[in-house]
Amino acid sequence: MLDSSKKPSLDPFGQTSIENYDYLYEEFGIQPFKPLLQDIPETTAAMRRGVVFGHRDFDRILKAMKLHEGFAVMSGIKPTGDFHLGSLITAREVVYFQQQGATAFYCIADVEAYEDNGIPFEKSEKTAAGNIADLLALGFNLDKGYVYRQSKEERVKDLAIAFGRRVTLATMKAIYGERHLGLYLSSLIQAGDILLPQLKEFGGPKPTVVPVGIDQDPHLRLARDLASKFNRRYGFVSPSSTYHKLIKALDGSAKMTKRAPASHFTLNENPETAAKKISNAFTGGQPTVKKQREAGANPSICPIYDLYMFHFFEKDEDAAKLYNECRTGKILCGECKNRLIEVVTRFVQDHQRKRLQFIDKGKEILERLSR
Ligand code: SF4
Repeated sequence: MLDSSKKPSLDPFGQTSIENYDYLYEEFGIQPFKPLLQDIPETTAAMRRGVVFGHRDFDRILKAMKLHEGFAVMSGIKPTGDFHLGSLITAREVVYFQQQGATAFYCIADVEAYEDNGIPFEKSEKTAAGNIADLLALGFNLDKGYVYRQSKEERVKDLAIAFGRRVTLATMKAIYGERHLGLYLSSLIQAGDILLPQLKEFGGPKPTVVPVGIDQDPHLRLARDLASKFNRRYGFVSPSSTYHKLIKALDGSAKMTKRAPASHFTLNENPETAAKKISNAFTGGQPTVKKQREAGANPSICPIYDLYMFHFFEKDEDAAKLYNECRTGKILCGECKNRLIEVVTRFVQDHQRKRLQFIDKGKEILERLSR
């Protein structure tokens, strides 16, 4: 029997903290991803390591991948700051599905940045150019994809206007809780984003996968409901999703957030600052070396272990190795952090080199989108 005090609530606009992911299968009807692994032609490290843990209707995407039928991948970023490690997981999944044959859609969610964070469009526009450069540096192929700004994409706004007629305030409250109307509006626009790939201008109805962090599931629930309500008019196929776990914050708080700089580092951060944040991070370690050698530490609550697991283990077997070294006290937190700092420094430097080559392209795309 699961402990109901640990029941999570999923809030795309606030803090979501999940202690027990099993609840999500029972309470929200999310399907476990693991049983599908054997059928996926090429898996990602995040899938194999259980970082991608759940889905809705992914079987539909799997079928399209296997039969080489048309499908789409859709996700995006709220341009409130540079890419951080959460944005990185999603972007990598978008690139993966694009490489598997999907037409890729990537949205700069500037309406949400305004409604949720109060960031005006002129300001988020500057951030967005860097976000696009990050996406391109991670391998997004513009020839097989579409990058757009919510505030400039008329088709998304038209869908949101149409959707508004079929959603009551009671439904929005049930999904998102009591919010100001701007957030409800931006949620309708997000439903428009999710269903945009199925408009006739983009080849019509098709399976679409939306890879997101689990806290974003309410947007999927709304979009799936609207896909069904507007099926007769647009022929929408109910969108599918994959869910990744939420990476623990470096400062020990529930979730990495751009609002708390010590909770995360960005891909555009000075590597020395990133190293310092890792050095100062909360861990699952013991108060003394002696105790850690004797009793071992706890990787399950440790953001350093999460960082390795989500992004920085080179090989899958490295996960089990570090887990055992940590549990048995064979490794101390200082050494563990130092190893990670080396890997992160290499990754960040390499990414920033690539990103630099795409900055002008990012600006050019954004200028085009702003016209
Ligand atoms: S040894 Fe590493 S994984 Fe284990 S608690 Fe310490 S920092 Fe975390």
